[in-house]
Amino acid sequence: MAEVKKCMWCYSEKLDEATKRKDGSGILKCQSCGLTMLSSVPENLDSLYGEESYFNPVKKVDTGYDQNYDLMTPLSLLWQVSIVDQLTISKEKKTFFEVGCATGNLLELTQEFIPNLTAYGIDVSKYSVAVCKEKGLEVSLAGIEEYTPKRKFDIIFSSETMEHLTDLKVFMEKVKKSMSNAGTFVFFVPCLRSNKKINREEDVFSHPEHLIFFTSEFFKKELSKFFGVPTNIYQINTDFGSSIVGIVSFDEKSISKLKVVMESILKNELPSSVDNQTLTNLAIIASKFSKFELAERSLASFKDKDSKVIFAEGVIACHKGEIHKAKEKFLESFGGGLIDYVKLKILYNLNSELINIYEKRLLRQEAGSKRVDGSTKGVFAKLRGN
Ligand SMILES: [Zn+2]
Repeated sequence: MAEVKKCMWCYSEKLDEATKRKDGSGILKCQSCGLTMLSSVPENLDSLYGEESYFNPVKKVDTGYDQNYDLMTPLSLLWQVSIVDQLTISKEKKTFFEVGCATGNLLELTQEFIPNLTAYGIDVSKYSVAVCKEKGLEVSLAGIEEYTPKRKFDIIFSSETMEHLTDLKVFMEKVKKSMSNAGTFVFFVPCLRSNKKINREEDVFSHPEHLIFFTSEFFKKELSKFFGVPTNIYQINTDFGSSIVGIVSFDEKSISKLKVVMESILKNELPSSVDNQTLTNLAIIASKFSKFELAERSLASFKDKDSKVIFAEGVIACHKGEIHKAKEKFLESFGGGLIDYVKLKILYNLNSELINIYEKRLLRQEAGSKRVDGSTKGVFAKLRGN
């Protein structure tokens, strides 16, 4: 373990011990900027993320993600797709860059659901980048610190990555440099419930690889100054902890539709006069944060439900744990004969039996259309991993 002597954001050496984690590790608070961080950092971080262990279900270590990360995540990432969708509502072509893209689930989903988006990513894990390349994604093996992007990006996205850093300033400087003139940075991090009294029982302290513990106050004060534009910080408390969705943009107009959704979730109130796409995205994002009543209200206004609305109903049911209802909704949302690999993967994750039903249906459709080219069989074989 290496002792932390300087603040991970402002480099001040005035660090006070605020509390101790359950395992005895000290939690420091910077007197200058207010950032809270661990008092010592494991020295094997590079090998933890860099080797084939953190996301790899075969070569497991004690930390990282359990079960099959690649198969488990697509459904849980749909709310992030909705966030990006709210930023691309204008239908202009945009570039998307995910810092810490793991095995590329979000990149894959955004490309599947948002056609006018070109997605890129980086990750420090060799295993993850290899999986991304197998999926045909444009991903580089690098940490943002040493990465020199060939282009600037319209949307930069970072989810559950910043709490793993040892130098937040270097990270932010790179993000700022990589944003286009109208660029937007969206981040998602777990956070401390309160800035005032730090409770050592907080959920954020239960992950040994979390090094920085954020508060809304820190972001509001420090990021607005750093980017020179207002920072939109949405802290959402749920039963299982507290999270922050942060949005910083050089073009306030381009984030207005996303702000409508986030403000609606904070107030637990439907926005007045919004389009159907916004209502569907609101339902999906709200259900991620257990705001089920708001999510259901936002879909209740639809008279004619198209496949997207039915799909959103499935996502809500899933977040509620109503798996039977979720399955019905997902199955119903597949209207046409289009084989959609990503959606199928989500279904497969829910219940592999459902895949058998759907395969039969598609094979019947394929036979009926005289288009028996074996593509249906091929996709299902791939899903089952043979
Ligand atoms: Zn500081």
